[in-house]
Amino acid sequence: MWSFTYILILNTFLLTASGTVDPSTVWTDWDKRQTCTPTNGIHQPASIDELVQIVTVAEFMETQLKTVGSGHSFSQITLTDDGRVNGSMIVNLDNIKKVLKLPTDNDHTVTVEAGIRVQ
Ligand SMILES: Cc1cc2nc3c(=O)[nH]c(=O)nc-3n(C[C@H](O)[C@H](O)[C@H](O)COP(=O)(O)OP(=O)(O)OC[C@H]3O[C@@H](n4cnc5c(N)ncnc54)[C@H](O)[C@@H]3O)c2cc1C
Repeated sequence: MWSFTYILILNTFLLTASGTVDPSTVWTDWDKRQTCTPTNGIHQPASIDELVQIVTVAEFMETQLKTVGSGHSFSQITLTDDGRVNGSMIVNLDNIKKVLKLPTDNDHTVTVEAGIRVQ
């Protein structure tokens, strides 16, 4: 139990130290009709390693974790359930946007990281 607590504190410290924790806890969609207040914060990891840390902490805390992009969905699908006993958390992947593989003559597949925008 103590080791898990230690990991949680360590991860929280690392996230805070690396500046990936947004102090604002209010998230809104593009036209501000959908709003939520994730009790465990809004996080924007800069790397896969940081994303893994966030997911590890969320799993340990048994907190709800939702991913958001540009918030252009018209529905409530991105909203967190902020009344949960173990709270809620949002992660945005805008900084995880590398192009991993370009198409070739034989293979027209483009492989990108999950936060990339089509524009
Ligand atoms: C003015 C306007 C015009 C539009 N026109 C069109 C149109 O012509 N055609 C069309 O198809 N749609 C259209 N849409 C809808 C909009 O483009 C889609 O809802 C949008 O593509 C959703 O992407 P998002 O990044 O905004 O996702 P969000 O709204 O942020 O999230 C939507 C869902 O995707 C999940 N999600 C988001 N990012 C990730 C990620 N990186 N990894 C895993 N899950 C993720 C979220 O958890 C949520 O469940 C329009 C929207 C607006 C506001």
